[in-house]
Amino acid sequence: MVRNQERKPLVSESIATLRFEDFCLNTGLDRDVAADLMRTGRLRGTWSSATEPRRPVSVFMDDLPSREALVAMGLPVRDDYDPGAPRYGGIECRTHGWAESVLVMRYDVDLHRDVPDHSLCWECSRAGVPPDSGNSTRHSPDWVTRWVQTQDELGRS
Ligand SMILES: [Zn+2]
Repeated sequence: MVRNQERKPLVSESIATLRFEDFCLNTGLDRDVAADLMRTGRLRGTWSSATEPRRPVSVFMDDLPSREALVAMGLPVRDDYDPGAPRYGGIECRTHGWAESVLVMRYDVDLHRDVPDHSLCWECSRAGVPPDSGNSTRHSPDWVTRWVQTQDELGRS
């Protein structure tokens, strides 16, 4: 759909994610059901907590399942679930209110690779507004470490 394309951030180094809680809110799926989807490999692009590997944290927006795919699994999905336009999830922006967030990357000289630096309001990202305390959140080193580990795991599978 054209609308999905338009909603994608134009900044190539940004990756949009949806928190697991927000995935449940958008789909209407029970957390246990959604977590089971991840554990059984039916929900792709998820990443889990560092301290609790079985607890999912986020789902990459590009990997969100279609409503039809979930229905085909016999799951009770909300009628208004649209992976291209989630109604829950994002970031509180000073200018845009509650907006979709994108993950902005930076090059890490020690790791020799791109790693997440902060999450930024999607509207601000598109408008070229620089990140500050009012439209972005910086990720902790632990969070970044876990992200890198998950990327490696996804790359191997
Ligand atoms: Zn904004």
